[in-house]
Amino acid sequence: MSNPAPSPLPFAEVTAETYAEAFSATCEPTETRRGVLLTGTCPRCGDRMDYLVPTGVFLGASGTSARVRPTPVMCTCNGSHEGRPDADEGCGAYWTVELTAVAS
Ligand SMILES: [Zn+2]
Ligand SMILES: [Zn+2]
Repeated sequence: MSNPAPSPLPFAEVTAETYAEAFSATCEPTETRRGVLLTGTCPRCGDRMDYLVPTGVFLGASGTSARVRPTPVMCTCNGSHEGRPDADEGCGAYWTVELTAVAS
């Protein structure tokens, strides 16, 4: 099941159960002033991408020290994917990661 010649991947809004795990394996969270920046490889198209998660979403929960929040993530790569709407980015793949917000 090798696929040595990468072919252009058309834009499609799709998800799969394996996406979240595959993304988490490559994902590196970086704390920024605007939130947590998740940098990793898109599990669908294989391009590098990053996604900003506003931490305010998590820290708004009252009095909870640690919380796992399902967070929607979508591909934001710069690769060319045929059929992508002008206002959109990435290859269309989306998935949900579980972020643990820990109050410090
Ligand atoms: Zn891509
Ligand atoms: Zn992608």
